[in-house]
Amino acid sequence: MQKRLVVIGGGASGFFCAVNARRLNPGLEVIIVEKTSKILSKVRISGGGRCNLTHQHSEIYLMSKKYPRGTNLVKKTFHNFFTTDTIEWFGSRGVAVKAESDGRMFPVTDSSETIIDCLVREMNMQGVKLWYNKDVRQITKEGPQWKLSFPDESLLADYVCIACGGFPKASSFGWLTALGHSIEPPVPSLFTFNMPGNAITSLMGVSVEAAQVKIAGTKLQETGPLLITHWGMSGPAVLRLSAWGARLLAEKEYRFTALVNWLPDTPEPVLREKVQGFRETNAAARVNGRNNLGLPQRLWEYLTQQAGASNSRWRPVGLGLMGLQD
Ligand SMILES: Cc1cc2nc3c(=O)[nH]c(=O)nc-3n(C[C@H](O)[C@H](O)[C@H](O)COP(=O)(O)OP(=O)(O)OC[C@H]3O[C@@H](n4cnc5c(N)ncnc54)[C@H](O)[C@@H]3O)c2cc1C
Repeated sequence: MQKRLVVIGGGASGFFCAVNARRLNPGLEVIIVEKTSKILSKVRISGGGRCNLTHQHSEIYLMSKKYPRGTNLVKKTFHNFFTTDTIEWFGSRGVAVKAESDGRMFPVTDSSETIIDCLVREMNMQGVKLWYNKDVRQITKEGPQWKLSFPDESLLADYVCIACGGFPKASSFGWLTALGHSIEPPVPSLFTFNMPGNAITSLMGVSVEAAQVKIAGTKLQETGPLLITHWGMSGPAVLRLSAWGARLLAEKEYRFTALVNWLPDTPEPVLREKVQGFRETNAAARVNGRNNLGLPQRLWEYLTQQAGASNSRWRPVGLGLMGLQD
């Protein structure tokens, strides 16, 4: 008798599992059950609609280090299927990819629809069945099989793959804990910093190419582009910090002090020399005028204002402005 695999979830992982299970086991009946009326919704919005499909890294060790948690699990998984396999898998199905300067890889079409089309085409070609509006509420053992219960009916399966994505609340995983699985409490990751009432938000739109952001009292720090928004701070440096610090910041209930070094590539003696030189040649100029440090003008004005020197001229202010000794 034909065996049946039911894949729960019509997202990227469910599709990838289903089409490959059927390709490698043509005798298997494969059904994807999706609780909504839409499939691959997150793929559609991924990478700003372009889908950052994979990364150019071809070293498993280096790539696994980029993951904030679960390095060992990720490493094992990569030994089975790595970035190079992803490129080959999609390439052999007509999806050409290109790498950007930071190593991220996108379909050459710059459209996530290319990835969706490929997965749907593969599903049809492999004869994978797709059932919409099937919300699995419970899984129970029924003899040697599994019984999946939806609100209106049930389905028996010999094998079940759970590819339901994440939920913000641990309680949403109740149907899985009932099976005896343990669930790591979910916490937000990849978030921006919300800083209500902080004066820095007046600089919304200002960005710095490479700022260093530290969380006071922890070892967390990241360097990269930083963007000031109307609610606080965003950009790769902040997003990466939120991913690496997801659990710690949750423990702190998101109340922490972020320390920003706007010029992390300039060692203090060099900074001191630059300010001193500028001060000597611009003694009569206002401190909040132009700066010779490459900082955006609005940020510079803000920093001088915070230092209480916005209306001063260079000569009487000196190095104290930069927190340096005169
Ligand atoms: C804005 C944004 C941009 C992103 N950009 C990228 C990117 O560029 N590159 C990248 O690699 N990743 C990106 N990601 C992450 C990536 O989209 C996700 O990691 C990935 O799509 C998750 O796929 P999944 O199949 O595990 O889960 P999901 O996409 O969440 O799919 C799970 C599916 O299961 C269904 N489901 C849940 N419970 C049940 C149930 N009980 N019964 C039946 N069905 C159920 C859900 O309705 C859903 O359709 C981005 C994410 C977001 C939000």
